[in-house]
Amino acid sequence: MSFTSHSLLPDNVLLLFKSDLWEQQRELAHAIDRTEKEIRALADLGSGDVVDDSSDNASKEAVFASYSQNRVRLRRVELALKRISTGDFGICADCGGTIGLKRLQALPWANNCIECQAQSEQGRVN
Ligand SMILES: [Zn+2]
Repeated sequence: MSFTSHSLLPDNVLLLFKSDLWEQQRELAHAIDRTEKEIRALADLGSGDVVDDSSDNASKEAVFASYSQNRVRLRRVELALKRISTGDFGICADCGGTIGLKRLQALPWANNCIECQAQSEQGRVN
């Protein structure tokens, strides 16, 4: 196994992030799979039953909401894994500086440092 990473984080730290992200990826894939089945089951129910009460709709919406949320989460996790494999993990895409470990632990898919993030948020407000 060759590590071509030029990330500033030591390999053992990257490995911890990786295994954590793999775990999340697996869980999210399962959750998405499960909700896809639920959505199909709900669709089957809906087609057979003309009586559509609002509690059914509410649970349908909840399933769809968690489905799209998990899809977004999975994309982020995959993005973080990609950044690890390309060696960009932990490096700010805006200023090229390092992203703090605490920020990465909270948001492994963060692609900019806290300063650049704060600046872009300020830019949005002004
Ligand atoms: Zn930055």
